[in-house]
Amino acid sequence: MARSSGKSELIGGTIIPPTHLELNVADHCNITCRACNHASPIMPAWFADPDTVQRDYAILARHYRPAFIKVLGGEPLMHRHLDAVIEAARSTGISDHFTLATNGTLLHKASDAVWAAVDEVEISVYPDVAGVADNIRLARDKARDFGKKLTVFYYDRFRATFSLQGTADRDLVAKVYAACKIANLWGCHTVREGYFYKCPQSIYVALLAGRAPEPDGIAIVDGPTFQADLLEYVNDPAPQIACAHCVGTVGILEPHAFLTRREWRDHIDKPTEAMVDLDWLERCRTRQDRRDDCKIPARLMAQGWLDRLPWLQRGLRAVLPSWPAQGGLRLGERVLRRNAEVPREVDDNETASEAVRR
Ligand code: SF4
Ligand code: SF4
Repeated sequence: MARSSGKSELIGGTIIPPTHLELNVADHCNITCRACNHASPIMPAWFADPDTVQRDYAILARHYRPAFIKVLGGEPLMHRHLDAVIEAARSTGISDHFTLATNGTLLHKASDAVWAAVDEVEISVYPDVAGVADNIRLARDKARDFGKKLTVFYYDRFRATFSLQGTADRDLVAKVYAACKIANLWGCHTVREGYFYKCPQSIYVALLAGRAPEPDGIAIVDGPTFQADLLEYVNDPAPQIACAHCVGTVGILEPHAFLTRREWRDHIDKPTEAMVDLDWLERCRTRQDRRDDCKIPARLMAQGWLDRLPWLQRGLRAVLPSWPAQGGLRLGERVLRRNAEVPREVDDNETASEAVRR
């Protein structure tokens, strides 16, 4: 359950982050979504090593306890030893709940060991990805057999994230950071090879530029000041180095599409000013919305219901050839947005993140 402040807090000698810690087990992906916010379509192949995860999480677990661990990538099911990585993390006692977030395309290959290792599977469904509807049906059976929770979300649009050219406008960077839900509300912290990061995007911005990500992170060391240093780091109101090349959660809205890997790099080879949705940025400075406005729960998608009724879907496609394989109608969008809004009056000298933390 997300806490309302968006800030990490020291409670009973342990840092409690706003929500979760991400366990990125692969950088690359088997599909190429246009606005992937982990840059996976152009990341070189990389897999997390179970021993390294165990080493880092064992130190972190003495100081920090997230509500859950989100296991993702890239596409996490591309990792051949995914169950071993999850077990390595779980053995440290860092959290009791592990959610596997997948695009669903490889779920038919997920071993029983993977189903046994996780507590929940979350499927992100993108339009017109072959085989996912069948895999959702299969996953429902597996989840029931293994006693695991299954969640399905639909995405038919994304907000842009990365800008290869970046910006020298420090005021714009400060505003983007202050409005960034990843940094200020969702707390998508992550760990990679001995370092803790406030967001995975800071790692991928560095890798896109061919530089090491460590300057935006904090070394995981079992020293007497580590916990205090970590708390100060995660709640630091100053933008990170990477924020000059990232628009966080205020990027322009783009319909979902697949690009070739070459097209993907060209698509982000623009200045920050061309990637940011200025109206949305200004709105986020006065009204924060905890919801991901690109993510629609299955119950609010016509397709979510239709996936349970394949005969009706076949009939619809026969009558309406343009009916998508996945996706479909958005329902209840306005209700979702209204329920998630956190209206705040923000004066000109106050950042949106400060307002959210009040
Ligand atoms: S499925 Fe997820 S990780 Fe893969 S390209 Fe799409 S958004 Fe990125
Ligand atoms: S790099 Fe900066 S703007 Fe991008 S997600 Fe991280 S904190 Fe937000």
